[in-house]
Amino acid sequence: MNQSQNPTLSGTVYLIHLSEKMHHSQHYIGWAANVEGRMHHHRHNRGSRFLAAANERGIRYEIVRQWPGDKHLERQLKNRKKARLLCPICNKVH
Ligand SMILES: [Zn+2]
Repeated sequence: MNQSQNPTLSGTVYLIHLSEKMHHSQHYIGWAANVEGRMHHHRHNRGSRFLAAANERGIRYEIVRQWPGDKHLERQLKNRKKARLLCPICNKVH
C-alpha cells in the first residue's frame, strides 16, 4: 500500500437523497470522517450551503448510500454527475 497516503483522509463518502428537487438537483454527495457528526452539522446549517438551503425550505433528506473511501472517491462520484443512478430510492422498481 501507499505509505504516503494520509490516514486522516480515510472516511466515508455519503449520498443524500432529498424529498424534493432543489436547484435542479435531488442529491448531495459528501465526504466525512464521521458521517453522523457531519449530518448533525448539516441539520444545523453547517457544512453545506446546499443542505442549509434545504433546511430553510423544509425539504427533508437522508443518507441513502455510503461508501468507505477518501475525498478522491468523493470527487470521482461528484464528477460523474450520476448521483441519481447511484440512489436506491430513485432506482426503486415500482
Ligand atoms: Zn434519489
